[in-house]
Amino acid sequence: MAFDLSKVRNIGISAHIDSGKTTLTERILYYTDRIHAIHEVRGKDGVGAKMDSMDLEREKGITIQSAATFCEWDDYKVNIIDTPGHVDFTVEVERSLRVLDGAILVLCGVAGVQSQSFTVDRQMRRYGVPRIAFINKLDRAGANPWNVTKSIREKLSLNAVMTQIPIGAEDKLGGIIDLIQMRAFIFEGEGGREILEKEIPADYVAKATEMRAAMLDSVSMYSDELMMELMEGEIPVNPRTVIMIREAIRSGTLSNQLVPVCMGSAYRNTGVQLLLDAVTYFLPSPPEKHNMALDAQGEQVPVQVDPEAPLIVLAFKLDDGRYGQVTYIRVYQGTLRKGDTIYNQRTKQKVKVGRLVRMHSSEMEDISVTQAGDICALFGVDCASGDTFTDGSVNMSMESMFVPEPVIKMSLKPKDNKAVSNLSKALNRFSKEDPTFRTFLDKESNETIIAGMGELHLEVYVERMKREYGVECEVGKPQVAYRETVTQRAEYNYAHKKQTGGSGQFGRVVGYIEPSEEMDFEYVWKCVGGSIPTEFNASIEKGFRQSITKGRLIGFPVVNMRFVVTDGQSHAVDSSDNAFQAAARGAFRQAYAAARPVILEPIMKLAVEGPGEFAGSIMRTISQRRGIIVGQSEEDGFARVEAEVPLAEMFGYSTVIRSATQGKAEFSMEFLKYSPVPPDVGKTLREEFGSKLIVEEDD
Ligand code: GDP
Repeated sequence: MAFDLSKVRNIGISAHIDSGKTTLTERILYYTDRIHAIHEVRGKDGVGAKMDSMDLEREKGITIQSAATFCEWDDYKVNIIDTPGHVDFTVEVERSLRVLDGAILVLCGVAGVQSQSFTVDRQMRRYGVPRIAFINKLDRAGANPWNVTKSIREKLSLNAVMTQIPIGAEDKLGGIIDLIQMRAFIFEGEGGREILEKEIPADYVAKATEMRAAMLDSVSMYSDELMMELMEGEIPVNPRTVIMIREAIRSGTLSNQLVPVCMGSAYRNTGVQLLLDAVTYFLPSPPEKHNMALDAQGEQVPVQVDPEAPLIVLAFKLDDGRYGQVTYIRVYQGTLRKGDTIYNQRTKQKVKVGRLVRMHSSEMEDISVTQAGDICALFGVDCASGDTFTDGSVNMSMESMFVPEPVIKMSLKPKDNKAVSNLSKALNRFSKEDPTFRTFLDKESNETIIAGMGELHLEVYVERMKREYGVECEVGKPQVAYRETVTQRAEYNYAHKKQTGGSGQFGRVVGYIEPSEEMDFEYVWKCVGGSIPTEFNASIEKGFRQSITKGRLIGFPVVNMRFVVTDGQSHAVDSSDNAFQAAARGAFRQAYAAARPVILEPIMKLAVEGPGEFAGSIMRTISQRRGIIVGQSEEDGFARVEAEVPLAEMFGYSTVIRSATQGKAEFSMEFLKYSPVPPDVGKTLREEFGSKLIVEEDD
């Protein structure tokens, strides 16, 4: 079964929460005949929309986990990769965005560009994902697709071009006019399945003609042919020009220079089928999106979207389904058949592909073969998300994904003994699925610690443990992942000596520590002349590595520091691996205070949006939290404030912002950088930790 790659679309749907992404996805599945009834999100029938297969999601009404769903439209195969909009789940979004070739950006017809629209747009930009905008909820009072298009152009700086206009507005929304074909479409019958194509109603002809001219003006930039014809006069409406205009829009979209705008109301079954058409016309097929793999030397090599090329498969998502572990994969190169043996590039292990399936939300369909450009799922394959599989003939892996370090952690205590084994099962699965979610045992307190990208990120997992594994936990206060670093060079000259009975211990190290821009830990051996036998080089490095796991200011890891060993002394009998490890630890203790260590804290990038009258209150919540405002704008009575704020000050911010703005503002937050804490904060943290270290302070 070779399939026509030009008829494959791998797309994501991204949106600000509540814009109607779930409803839209549901309608798409309905019209593509994959499901047979429409259930409203949080509907009275209690069934819920199909994409939200997790209870928790259903309850919160937000889509947290991404899933890949397959459907067919005309003779196109469309894989919909569900991308979560919440920024606390950035890695899920990043992972999905890497896998998809194009996206639909859903916007509310009333609210327009909202805080998460910026976030998802930025992420799509980073991965060069071509997109179509869908302005939803045109049935709502105050909906205005012209304003929303303007806000996409102005706020997101995207070249948004309306390809449609609505017939009627708000509760009188009656259909959609396509400006390319200059035809009107009305959606009737059960669930709007019947599409009636008509002449444009007389009272819309003038507006449609004007809007078409504006559209042609913008899209002719992407087609010389169209540009020429436009200069010669009017472009007639006929099958030839329809194709020509679609090609021009496609070309602008693929080069990320144009965003075609579609519109409608998912809830009122208006315009969704035309959006599906637009997906097939304007978004790229797999060969049109360039992907890179890494070869054994770490060099980037373009992927060949060719069924005959050596197999390269990326596992982009794991899910513990009803039937065991489901591994969502994207085939980048080659052909994969049921029964094939594939190699995990990371673990170097072989696995047999027992079952190959296409997922339709929580249901599935067995298939026997899949090939380059396709997205499907494997069963019973043990791997981590982000792993690459090949057929063993090439040593390539898909680009490693950007995985930020956790910035927050908290302790967990299962409420009873029964919960202990389930807890480890749950933690094991979550950390496999989500690389930004980490878990470990704190040796000192003997507590289980979970770490992640934000308060909500961890809360969701605590909630999932309860629901999916029946584990009730007592959770500790969230703790910020501080770091320590040094700010100046300091020398050491330390001898470790012990004389106990027979053989003693001896090792002396001389050198310095200093700040390093380069990496978290750098070790340099400059000891020439044999004062320390080279066999102890590794012992000294090991000793330093042990030291930096706990800094002496507040016990957090020390980063960006270079250890240089210039000289030392050894003893023929008493020097040993242990003695030099101990000497290195002593040297660190000796030099650390003089190197003026500081505490670093995670700084988050915060964006808050709300009605203009609350701009002052929003800014107050930021300045009260040691935040720095870096941007502020107001438009159409809507204020947007951007700031950099220490994570330590942001616990419970959702409650604070709600009460400061009568629940009318929204915020998004993501990790930006580590920065030194102000002296007073540093002092408090050191007092809390009980640090005895005396650091020379600046005047
Ligand atoms: P998501 O958070 O983006 O997935 O949004 P949902 O699909 O859950 O929709 C949020 C709310 O908006 C739900 O109550 C939907 O019924 C409603 N909604 C979705 N689409 C439309 C629409 O086109 N018109 C109107 N009036 N409401 C809609």
